[in-house]
Amino acid sequence: MIQTIRGFRDILPEDTALWQAIEKSASELFEDFGFQEIRIPIMEKTELFARSIGETTDIVEKEMYTFPDRKGDKLTLRPEATASVVRSYIQHNMGASDPVQKLYTIGPMFRRERPQKGRYRQFYQINAEVFGISSPYIDAQLILILNELFKRLGLSELKAHINSLGCKECRPAFQKELLSFLNGKKEHLCENCLRRMEKNPLRTLDCKVPECRAALADAPSTLDHLCSGCSDHFETVKSVLNEQGVDFTVDKTLVRGLDYYSRTTFEILTTALGAQSAVAGGGRYDALIKELDGPETYGIGFAIGLDRLADIVAQVVNSSSVEEREAGSQSKFMKLLYAKVPDIFIIPLGEKATRLAYLWSSSLNIAGIRTEADYSGRSLKSLMKRADRLNAAHVLIAGDQEIEENALVLRNMKTKEQYFITAENPVEEIETLLNRV
Ligand code: AMP
Repeated sequence: MIQTIRGFRDILPEDTALWQAIEKSASELFEDFGFQEIRIPIMEKTELFARSIGETTDIVEKEMYTFPDRKGDKLTLRPEATASVVRSYIQHNMGASDPVQKLYTIGPMFRRERPQKGRYRQFYQINAEVFGISSPYIDAQLILILNELFKRLGLSELKAHINSLGCKECRPAFQKELLSFLNGKKEHLCENCLRRMEKNPLRTLDCKVPECRAALADAPSTLDHLCSGCSDHFETVKSVLNEQGVDFTVDKTLVRGLDYYSRTTFEILTTALGAQSAVAGGGRYDALIKELDGPETYGIGFAIGLDRLADIVAQVVNSSSVEEREAGSQSKFMKLLYAKVPDIFIIPLGEKATRLAYLWSSSLNIAGIRTEADYSGRSLKSLMKRADRLNAAHVLIAGDQEIEENALVLRNMKTKEQYFITAENPVEEIETLLNRV
């Protein structure tokens, strides 16, 4: 039997309802904040990622799926979305119509990492990118949007970590100090860090090797070296987040694994999946657009890890009690999630009834009422069980006799209330009953 490649997986129908509800919650929220969807290719020229993400990053050094196509061009399955969105922004000269562009995209990314729970080689991200705004308010707003999205999804075990990496004005002086600190710790650093010291010393702060982490515990912080512009910027981000009631921690070790960040960086961390891990991360990349041969334009964005987010949301939904779920069922997200269960499950008993069940269910489907009819001819008892399994809100029982007597029984499975529906015009009567007309 042929199976999926290691680190690749199917998202099965039992999970896609949740994924779709999350995606829809995100896109609705983003659109309310003025974002528009962009769809970008999953394959690009390798050079795009090498130049933007950084030659010495883990992603570019060892995680990209890169191969020559038949003509020998070097191509890469995208490991992240920002580079592609920036490429698209430049290629289509988007800034010409409006200097401010707010874009989002949802789709798969590919990194050849060691697979484990919550880490896959094909994983999904929800990305948002904003071009053309230098103001710190947009930095705060992106964190606010993440906070609001997670709140709507019913999550509370999350915390925003934020940091500022400074800019090309203040970073060189910091790097010099960091470098002299690192030189004093050389014997405790891993090979990667020793190499990174040469090319981009900031990235040593990001190292996951425990010995390096210990050696770097009292490394100098970018925060102590911000120029006044970066410092004011960061202060405004923090103060508006406070004013808007967004909980956050300043985390001086947050440098993130990609080279293109400047000023504000942030991650949303959770302990819901065991060890602390990030469900979303992002930051400002004011130099990137120019570096990719575009105009001098500000940029900032974030990526949400959809696989991890779905795992956490599933955990919360599954662990909540029936009462909690009912209380939460008023929320937009829960409505989206439970919109997937049938409104009506038709149980026909008899041949004539089965034909009618097919006709009625199709008309109800067309009328936008999620209806499922069973054609198996099994007993009432076993079909009631199936209705239960499907979580159907109502069951319509249609035996040949009920049809003869023009009185079908519609039962609300939660309240157990029963209604009589005529066999002549059941579609309209059901529509009226469900308040859909
Ligand atoms: P990054 O682009 O590395 O900042 O990642 C942004 C988010 O994507 C992370 O916070 C994770 O939630 C998610 N993510 C990154 N890599 C993986 C992976 N290999 N598998 C699953 N999720 C991932």
